Amino acid sequence: MTYNVLSFPLIGRFLRWRWGRLVLQTALLAVTAVLLYDGFTGRPLAPTNLATVVTWVHYRGLVMLALLLFGNLFCMSCPFTLPRTLARKVSGHGRRWPRALRSKWLAIGVLFVYLWLYEWLDLWASPLLTAYVILAYFVASFVLEAIFAESPFCKYVCPLGTFNFASATISPTQITVLSPDTCRTCPGKECINGNGDVLGCGTELFAPQISSNMDCVFCLDCARACPYDNVALALRNPLHEATTPDAWPRRWDLHLLILVFAFAGLSNAFGMVPPVYTLEAALGRWLHTNNEGLVLFLIFAVLNLLLPVGLGLSAAWLSRRFAGRREPLRVALARYAPALLPLAFAVWFAHYAGFHFLSSAMTIVPVFQNFLLDHGLTFLGTPDWTLGPLLPGAWLDPFEMVVVLAGFAASFYAVGVRARRADGRPDTLAAQLPWLALLLALALAAMFIFYLPMEMRGAGFAG
Ligand code: SF4
Ligand code: SF4
Repeated sequence: MTYNVLSFPLIGRFLRWRWGRLVLQTALLAVTAVLLYDGFTGRPLAPTNLATVVTWVHYRGLVMLALLLFGNLFCMSCPFTLPRTLARKVSGHGRRWPRALRSKWLAIGVLFVYLWLYEWLDLWASPLLTAYVILAYFVASFVLEAIFAESPFCKYVCPLGTFNFASATISPTQITVLSPDTCRTCPGKECINGNGDVLGCGTELFAPQISSNMDCVFCLDCARACPYDNVALALRNPLHEATTPDAWPRRWDLHLLILVFAFAGLSNAFGMVPPVYTLEAALGRWLHTNNEGLVLFLIFAVLNLLLPVGLGLSAAWLSRRFAGRREPLRVALARYAPALLPLAFAVWFAHYAGFHFLSSAMTIVPVFQNFLLDHGLTFLGTPDWTLGPLLPGAWLDPFEMVVVLAGFAASFYAVGVRARRADGRPDTLAAQLPWLALLLALALAAMFIFYLPMEMRGAGFAG
């Protein structure tokens, strides 16, 4: 039996409503407009400015919670795609996104550059730069929509989308169809082609073939376009994609994206603990340079690209050898790499939702009061700058450890399930060992990093 969120009272009706997404996008657009305004004109100190506090503390924490409890709510409500209609009018029909770029390689590159710039330029510490980043999203989305006919920004470029797609692979909801038979005889395939009033799937997913949340922005246009009410937003096992061997096509780019996503979770947290400064200084001395951008680029190139690719391919090669299989390395990689997803998500969750959000969520109150006072509005009173944590500071480390251990246990379980479901014959324990060792190394590294003192970022008064 499929539990279909779209059939739930109120929430289902709202989600299916033609203007439901627009309402969410408009609400987020209004918030974004305030962030842009305060970022460009407000106080330059990050912990007192809405642009930095909301973007780097609340947005990231709430996105992780939404992905864990429901699904890709941010992409559903994303305001950056609102100028799309205008862009389409400017462009007419536009051209197709180049064939050579129809993969996750560009998305991996953009995610890498984004994480590097975040660290190098200390985006979290500058309301002005944060406002420029938000503006850049609007411009990039508009320009790509104006040039190309589809929605390449979400699927192939946007680093937030890439992050959300990878994270949503462990979300408890997914688009599916109620009756595959109805789809087989459906003449118009409106879920992907559109029906005149409603556009079809912007990222070109075909509802009856969907087995993953990858590339789904949860816009629900497919559900609105289907003339047979055959599209469901189904509740599912959050480990479905981590444990199902054929949930994804066996593509290099998809599986290496997961490895990069997993290692970037660690390196992003590593960038906020003391050893990174020791490493930067040592590398700078060794290279005879004071160029922090270059040094950080090299550190992130190793941590976010070389290590995930090198260790992932090594695990796949060893696993294939221990299993005695004759198959391309790409197939061996695809057999186990998605099992990393729960641990990868847990590391990001422990960092963004566990540390930054739980330690600083209430800072929004004094920062907003301060914003109003700066504009002569006194009805919310004077700011109480002692507000900040949702959890006592002493609980944060244990909370992060529990989250990482839960992610490790889920990934450990996923490796075992994938081994049992391996095509042909189940894999032996030996074939699982390289992946289990990689999981253990990642989990231990995460726990070590979270155990170290971490910068508050965006909410300096709370720490
Ligand atoms: S989901 Fe609806 S529109 Fe799409 S193929 Fe099935 S019946 Fe047709
Ligand atoms: S499958 Fe496509 S149309 Fe349906 S919710 Fe996902 S992105 Fe939107």
